[in-house]
Amino acid sequence: MLEPSGDVVTFETIAAVTVPVVLGAMVPDIDTAFGRHRKTLHNLLVLGVVAAYPVYFGNLQYVWIGVLSHFVLDILGSRRGLALLYPLSDNEFNLPVGVPVDSKYADAVMAAVTAVELATAAVIVYRVPQSALQAGLQAAGLA
Ligand SMILES: [Zn+2]
Repeated sequence: MLEPSGDVVTFETIAAVTVPVVLGAMVPDIDTAFGRHRKTLHNLLVLGVVAAYPVYFGNLQYVWIGVLSHFVLDILGSRRGLALLYPLSDNEFNLPVGVPVDSKYADAVMAAVTAVELATAAVIVYRVPQSALQAGLQAAGLA
């Protein structure tokens, strides 16, 4: 378990997690260049594939966190939803609290969502016993 201390291990861990998360956060909008934006790469199938990939292949860990973060910010940061069940359905899911990117509240919403995501990550890292996570993975047949 990472205990931030400012040593080399801490910075190596930050780099090991940050790079794949940032890359994962950029992946969904590739569908602006091909396919259908907010459908082709903005759905639960894509999230499931990137979440399962490291379990099976042993690499690309943490990419799913970036993809999930992108989905959350897209849902909360616009009035348009995401086709989470695409390709089964074109219906776009959204929350009524979303604000458009040109809203004066857009930066505040992004900062609030990021704070909640970081708090969630901290709870997972510091409060959820690793044995419980391991038991959950084993119960799901993933470890
Ligand atoms: Zn997007």
